Amino acid sequence: MTEVPVLIVGGGPVGLALALDLGWRGVPCLVVEQGDGEVVDAKMFATGIRTVEFCRRWGIAERVKHWGFPEDFPFDNVFVTSLNGHELGRIAMPPMRDVAPFPSSPERFAHCPQFVFDPILAQAARTQPGVTLRYRCRLAGFHETGDRVVANLVDEVTGAHDRAEARYLVGCDGFASTVRRELGIEVHGISIINRSVNVMFSAPALWEAHDKGKAGRYVIIGDEGAWASLTPADGTELWRLMIHGEADMDPESVDAAQEVRRAIGGDVAFKILKVGHWVRRRMVADHYGRGRVFLAGDAAHVMPPNGGLGMNTGIGDAVDLGWKLAAVHQGWGGPHLLASYELERRPVGIRQCDEAMRNFERYGSRKPAPRVTDETPAGERARAELGRRLASSNALAWENPLHTHLGYCYAGSPIIVPDGPPPPDPEDTRIYTQTSDPGCRAPHAWLGDGRSTLDLFGRAFTLLRLGSDAPKADGIASAAGRCGLPLEIVAIRDPEIARLYERKLVLVRPDGHVAWRSDQLPTDPDGLIDQVRGAGMRAPRASASRLEQRRNRPKMPANTD
Ligand SMILES: Cc1cc2nc3c(=O)[nH]c(=O)nc-3n(C[C@H](O)[C@H](O)[C@H](O)COP(=O)(O)OP(=O)(O)OC[C@H]3O[C@@H](n4cnc5c(N)ncnc54)[C@H](O)[C@@H]3O)c2cc1C
Repeated sequence: MTEVPVLIVGGGPVGLALALDLGWRGVPCLVVEQGDGEVVDAKMFATGIRTVEFCRRWGIAERVKHWGFPEDFPFDNVFVTSLNGHELGRIAMPPMRDVAPFPSSPERFAHCPQFVFDPILAQAARTQPGVTLRYRCRLAGFHETGDRVVANLVDEVTGAHDRAEARYLVGCDGFASTVRRELGIEVHGISIINRSVNVMFSAPALWEAHDKGKAGRYVIIGDEGAWASLTPADGTELWRLMIHGEADMDPESVDAAQEVRRAIGGDVAFKILKVGHWVRRRMVADHYGRGRVFLAGDAAHVMPPNGGLGMNTGIGDAVDLGWKLAAVHQGWGGPHLLASYELERRPVGIRQCDEAMRNFERYGSRKPAPRVTDETPAGERARAELGRRLASSNALAWENPLHTHLGYCYAGSPIIVPDGPPPPDPEDTRIYTQTSDPGCRAPHAWLGDGRSTLDLFGRAFTLLRLGSDAPKADGIASAAGRCGLPLEIVAIRDPEIARLYERKLVLVRPDGHVAWRSDQLPTDPDGLIDQVRGAGMRAPRASASRLEQRRNRPKMPANTD
């Protein structure tokens, strides 16, 4: 019998990120993964800017950004009838080397496919003392007993059964989650939007065989609309063709080689490495856990990959849950702290699902595009018109949608101290305005010593004293000390950073979100500390409904199962 504080089921990106975060916080954990850890599919390419900020904290951002993809490779999105056909439109995007730094982040978006990203996470997790990764090990079931969860594990090589006991279990086991099923938690939303076939192939000579230039994505349009997208995986010879089908498509009927030839529109040697298929869905679990068991990543929400939000949302789950599990493990987390995980992250899951659906609509797969392949003046006009429309609407998904990735806010969470209505979401998802509004991601600014303000956050709560006349915070420090809450107090005199942070005192949580802010000391520092560590008296349920009723928070669609 293995005993461990946290058992993580699933060694995909979310389970690995949670293991890494827990290990980084000194919390021992065991990851059980039924596969062997090899990732052949390049499901995920788009590593979001918030994910890269978390990677920065874990010390792996440089590896994620510079894993070998050519730095001078432009990331244009090009709409074509085929690589050798007509170009309809283009969203020009610079190569990584030339991306201007964002004023609101020390990091940037990265192109890091899952066959590169997962091994980086796994390797980093493995180097944390206390983290164990066990491959070819499947969770068969579990039950809760007293203050423990007892898991039944099966060794997939020998067939041997054994058990593990944990204080907490987290199901990061993907959409078909055994953990969610065992908990009896339902998922609602749209269970099948359509089906797709992914073809991974190698074609070293393809770059020389067309005139569209290097680009991050080629969307292939036929008379039936956008029927496929072609993405360079490694910038040299590896490619992924994603073929969009209808909901009733039979993936077995797809002739992968013929579709690759159609997308290229010419004769080039290629070798198919893998053909896989997947279902586009938009579903969110009714709950993100029960008792000592939690769900994170695709086990809790699944969305169209349009805009690359699925894994990035799951990494956000892992970071929210990581510090809370560490807090209860270390004894300073209050009794309501873990309940705040669902209250904070489920609305974000719904928000990102809605944005992914909007991106899917913008993309317009298989929306007929009559005459687009006609070699006539009418065909030329149809191509120009469709190209303009696709380029302008898809820019919202592909042209650095900073607000989508950085702008989610936990206002209304019972462990956030509100001081007014939260900021509304802008129409244009590329526009992100940094704010210290409680619940929002604390702003980035460069400090005099070359660090980002974000580098101050992570292992503890951080109380920023901003400006030249910030009140002394001894009362807050004493209150934190009394319950063992780790607190670092940092004075920042720079007037620009003080202006950016809007208040003289700003309390930032370990996940980098603002918990409280004020120009004055709190009248009840113990009450403040109790609230932010989940020991306060506010009833979580009432706050949850407030959170979900926030303006700009679209409701879940009816169950269309
Ligand atoms: C074509 C495509 C493109 C995508 N592109 C992007 C993108 O660019 N950006 C983005 O953010 N997201 C993208 N996504 C979504 C992203 O791939 C998923 O959101 C992400 O993989 C979810 O990670 P996860 O760890 O939650 O689940 P998974 O990746 O599904 O991992 C779950 C793991 O759990 C294991 N497991 C399951 N059951 C058990 C069990 N009983 N015992 C032990 N192990 C178990 C599985 O073997 C698996 O390894 C894309 C998805 C697709 C299909």
